[in-house]
Amino acid sequence: MTSRSRSASHSAPHPAPRTVLVVGASIAGPTLAYWLHRSGFAVTVVEKAHAPRGGGYPIDVRGTALDVVRRMGVLPRLRAAHVDTGRFTFLDADGGEIVSLHPSAVARSVEGQGLEVARGDLTAALYATVRDDVELRFDDHVTALDEHQHGVDVTFRSGARRTFDLVVGADGVHSGTRALAFGPEDRFHRYLGYAFAVFTMPNTLGLTHELMMWSAPGRAAALYATGGADDAVHAFLNFHRPALPSHALRDPDAQRDLVTSAYAGAGRQVAGIVDAMHEADDLFFDTAGQIRMPRWSSGRVALVGDAAFAPSFLTGQGSSLALVGAYMLARSLAEHRSHVAAFAAYERDTREFVTKNQALVADGGARLFPTTAEALERRNTMLRALVAMPGTTPEPAHSELVLPEPAAPWPGRGGKPHLTRR
Ligand SMILES: Cc1cc2nc3c(=O)[nH]c(=O)nc-3n(C[C@H](O)[C@H](O)[C@H](O)COP(=O)(O)OP(=O)(O)OC[C@H]3O[C@@H](n4cnc5c(N)ncnc54)[C@H](O)[C@@H]3O)c2cc1C
Repeated sequence: MTSRSRSASHSAPHPAPRTVLVVGASIAGPTLAYWLHRSGFAVTVVEKAHAPRGGGYPIDVRGTALDVVRRMGVLPRLRAAHVDTGRFTFLDADGGEIVSLHPSAVARSVEGQGLEVARGDLTAALYATVRDDVELRFDDHVTALDEHQHGVDVTFRSGARRTFDLVVGADGVHSGTRALAFGPEDRFHRYLGYAFAVFTMPNTLGLTHELMMWSAPGRAAALYATGGADDAVHAFLNFHRPALPSHALRDPDAQRDLVTSAYAGAGRQVAGIVDAMHEADDLFFDTAGQIRMPRWSSGRVALVGDAAFAPSFLTGQGSSLALVGAYMLARSLAEHRSHVAAFAAYERDTREFVTKNQALVADGGARLFPTTAEALERRNTMLRALVAMPGTTPEPAHSELVLPEPAAPWPGRGGKPHLTRR
């Protein structure tokens, strides 16, 4: 354990790299670990799962976040894993086609400039950049944080006890680190009125590299084929619920019941998707919500990614915010000796970007999932208009933040931040 005052001056010699515990090894966690390691920090990553979590639905990396993965040297690997989706087809509740268009028009990203990759591929690529350089503790999690003047005493579920200079929670929307250091989730979670189920199912419609979405007021069903006709498809059921369905959050049987009742009377194809959910062994259920916090740090504990500022899938920006937030936090910690100054700089330089992207849900994401017949008709009119447009206007919020260069390390701490890999 190093002992260092919070207000150590920039010019004072520093005895050793600071130790940082990063909680979570998905997207924000490995990104933060990578940049901290490059700046000379000794990093430990703890992940609840027994390995980096693979699989999952396709996610977007775009705007400023592309610069983060480019600087980490993983862009070529991600381009190779790019899910090349040819079209999105929107259907009415009975399967009648409303419109078919290129995905970039819906996402408001620029064709050829954004990336869409399976979530597991992104995690694997990021994890590969740190696995040889940081200490990894899988199949474990934090049960207690005890902060004192010189660090944070951490107790792990495995029984281990360690002291770190700093702890960063990158453990997702239901962050345990946030609960320990900031209080219960309901203080920070803003429910957006939808619940959803994601799972894989057989490709009964023989879809190839395309997404199909059936919509009725207040409920939508989608099949996403990221491969060919012989590959399984990602199913997605998203439905409106004015009140948070708290009873279903931790009960898979209640989740299946809730979804089944939400889709009662659905057309044949959608009913088939609901039936397939009952056979799925990888059902993921959650509600659409954002995490909004007045501060992203408390003492020596900070949060990043969904744990601090989940924007919800309705914005399609969760992974991009996680990548950019992790870079900005690591940069601030590399630049400032005092973690207080570093955490303040992280918030000052990142919050506006986060706020603008979270605000996309007001006029962006949710418009794809209208809750009334009138709003659905307006959405369909909007989608038809997109087809007639000659080019896509990129969403400015995606690139709102211009990524600063990596910070120079403090004298004597080592690190190699001057090398920007492109
Ligand atoms: C249906 C759906 C569609 C989405 N679509 C998109 C999209 O198109 N574009 C996009 O950018 N984003 C999308 N997202 C969101 C995206 O997946 C997240 O925003 C992003 O993964 C955030 O990364 P993160 O690293 O902050 O958190 P997470 O990916 O949630 O990772 C948290 C990690 O911490 C681990 N963990 C949790 N608790 C603990 C603990 N107590 N101790 C140790 N480890 C712990 C978890 O196992 C996990 O590995 C979507 C999400 C959903 C659900």
